[in-house]
Amino acid sequence: MTETDVSQFEVRAHPKPKSAGERAAILADPGFGRDFTDHMVTIKYTEGKGWHSAEVGPYGPLSLSPATAVLHYAQEIFEGMKAYHRADGRVGLFRAEENAVRFQRSADRMAMPMLPTDLYLASLQALIDVDRAWVPEGEDTSLYLRPFMFASEEFLGVRPALEYTYCVIASPAGAYFKSGPHPVTLWVSRDYTRAAPGGTGTAKCGGNYAMSLKPQAEAIQKGCEQVVFLDAVHRRYVDELGGMNMFFVYEADKTIVTPPLGTILPGITRDAVFTLAEETGYRVVERPYSIEEWRADADSGALTEAFACGTAAVITPVGVVRDGDVEFSASGGVAGPVTMGIRQRLLDIQHGKAADPYGWTSIVG
Ligand SMILES: *Cc1c(COP(=O)(O)O)cnc(C)c1O
Repeated sequence: MTETDVSQFEVRAHPKPKSAGERAAILADPGFGRDFTDHMVTIKYTEGKGWHSAEVGPYGPLSLSPATAVLHYAQEIFEGMKAYHRADGRVGLFRAEENAVRFQRSADRMAMPMLPTDLYLASLQALIDVDRAWVPEGEDTSLYLRPFMFASEEFLGVRPALEYTYCVIASPAGAYFKSGPHPVTLWVSRDYTRAAPGGTGTAKCGGNYAMSLKPQAEAIQKGCEQVVFLDAVHRRYVDELGGMNMFFVYEADKTIVTPPLGTILPGITRDAVFTLAEETGYRVVERPYSIEEWRADADSGALTEAFACGTAAVITPVGVVRDGDVEFSASGGVAGPVTMGIRQRLLDIQHGKAADPYGWTSIVG
């Protein structure tokens, strides 16, 4: 596959797609990750042959051998993106090329083949071409896109697989947190870490999530909604949440502090926040930020807001933080104006309600 465009995807229409009525009922209250569109993309990779058999086919179960490598050694990566119904009636993506490049970096870390970025982008276009009617139109809704790739070779030996399957599925999405953009409560994980230097923290792989589920369950058990991880070496510096990057707002000197890249996942929302913060007169400082500093500055009032960000939940204010028996919060635990301002600005660009001076958005439908 040298010429990568939509035309090389064989389209097999779903024999029994959801009726317009069934679809409308789902789109009226989309939830998150629960319902899927009628179709999905698959592309195969075989060592020595390259990428082949690109198709858009009916959404449905995969048939896999019990010896499929991914089931044993977790050689798997994914992306998370959204297709937005825009104010002008068209369907747009946000910084899609960045996701394509990150997917390649994740693949490289997991010793998987790198899907060409133009083939990645063409796969999204091909799916939206057939399932465009599934993009919801309600406020802050979107069609969540989940590209992923796994080792599909039937082999139990421990080595990079010789066969891979790339897929894209799509799911209409409402607000990520049931509580909406209300402040999220965080549990500081002292017993578990997320990523060590040299590990896979910067790759978007399923394994990073598998190991976060127990600490996440602990957070819920402690009455919190999300877990915040500290660094694996000093057990002091804020890493990130299980799936979101962290920011700390200091109003007095108009700076916003965020942990540096290294073991965290390089979020595309995180990167957009840099630009949007500067646009509103804040300076973003990347530096290690300790849990002690967080607590002291929250208690003194120097820290005016804290927020988390990622594609799924956009920008979410942080309310109460619980660290063992200690509790603290910035901005009295309510959503602050800097957080909500950046959030709205980002949503306005994503949904085509505001001009896009950065060339972040592209049209796919
Ligand atoms: C995907 C992800 C993020 C957020 O990245 P975005 O590109 O902003 O969606 C943050 N942390 C982890 C662990 C992730 O997997």
